[in-house]
Amino acid sequence: MWHEFERELEQHEAAGRKRTLRLLPEKTLDIASNDYLGLARHPEVVSAAQEAAQQFGAGARASRLVSGHFSLAQELENELARFKGSEASLVFSSGFATNVGILSALSNDSTTLFCHKRNHASLIDGCRLAEAKGATTRYFESTDKLRALLQNSTASRKIVLADGVFSMDGDLLPLPEVLALCDEFDALLMIDDAHGTGTLGGTGRGIEEHLGIHSERILTVGTLSKALGSQGGFVCGPRVAIDHFLAAAPSFIYSTGLNPPAVGAALAALHVLQREPQRVARCRYNARQLASGLVELGFDARFSGTPIVPVIVGGDHAALDLSACLEEQGIWCPAIRPPTVPRGTARLRLTACSEWTADEIDQILFRFASVKKSCDSGER
Ligand SMILES: *Cc1c(COP(=O)(O)O)cnc(C)c1O
Repeated sequence: MWHEFERELEQHEAAGRKRTLRLLPEKTLDIASNDYLGLARHPEVVSAAQEAAQQFGAGARASRLVSGHFSLAQELENELARFKGSEASLVFSSGFATNVGILSALSNDSTTLFCHKRNHASLIDGCRLAEAKGATTRYFESTDKLRALLQNSTASRKIVLADGVFSMDGDLLPLPEVLALCDEFDALLMIDDAHGTGTLGGTGRGIEEHLGIHSERILTVGTLSKALGSQGGFVCGPRVAIDHFLAAAPSFIYSTGLNPPAVGAALAALHVLQREPQRVARCRYNARQLASGLVELGFDARFSGTPIVPVIVGGDHAALDLSACLEEQGIWCPAIRPPTVPRGTARLRLTACSEWTADEIDQILFRFASVKKSCDSGER
């Protein structure tokens, strides 16, 4: 009965695409985590999680619509809305759950979703759920293509879906252009700012602050699990949208509320971030240092002004080899392979942290240099 799956796993392994869970060895330098501001282990964030557990319990006990919700969740939502400059916000158990939940809630049979091809898997899955509710999905890769699709659309509800920062490449979509198209064709714009929250803009408010865009037609989704060092997801937008989601997003209604320790940690992380906005600039500065050092060493590292620095390797086996050689040097950076990225673009995806010292960056570069000398990191 499980035969088919065994065969499939064997094929993945032969192709260099098998995925396994690995224990993070002690004493390795993790250069692949999304803890951009070092907040996951910040003493204030950790003790806020402990205090929240003491006061409200380890779990939320039921869906917030059923068990009532606790004041801390309300406080976090108010704070997130203020932070993002929106009217209201709603938290979910993860960023993934947020995307699939609100896409389902936004869709009916007169909806067309315009989804960027490189959007995060949760938006792509969300589109499939939306299709089950009668929506149509169109995919675009350029603003020209988006314009053509919007022009030809007769849907009464149009929603453009865009990652703020593309998670595997670290680059940005030209959102001001996209927003102008949404204005022209009366579409909503849903931005997934999972990687921009805490890392972009002068004070870490994200992609909108970075680009100076603001509009009633924007819904912003984010995660508490990356720069904010906690766990959970959120959506910010007009009050009417938020009221609709809490009554119509299945992943909110039929799932247990975000647990108190995660809520407490995220709230504390937001406070640290607002008190110490220099973390934001330091994170991007470190990404730039890392990328330019790697380019000098001859790696195909790309810097787009965000903390995500992909190092394109090419072949799946070559990326695995490079990752393994780095691990021997005490550097943790797993290979990213298809189908997460296109064929022939397997890579290491490095992510900078604001808390790295200049010395640590030198250490990382030194180890990449010795790996380049000693290991066969070429295409096999
Ligand atoms: C990580 C990520 C998510 C999912 O967030 P989680 O809180 O980890 O579930 C959604 N969208 C993008 C673009 C992401 O990078």
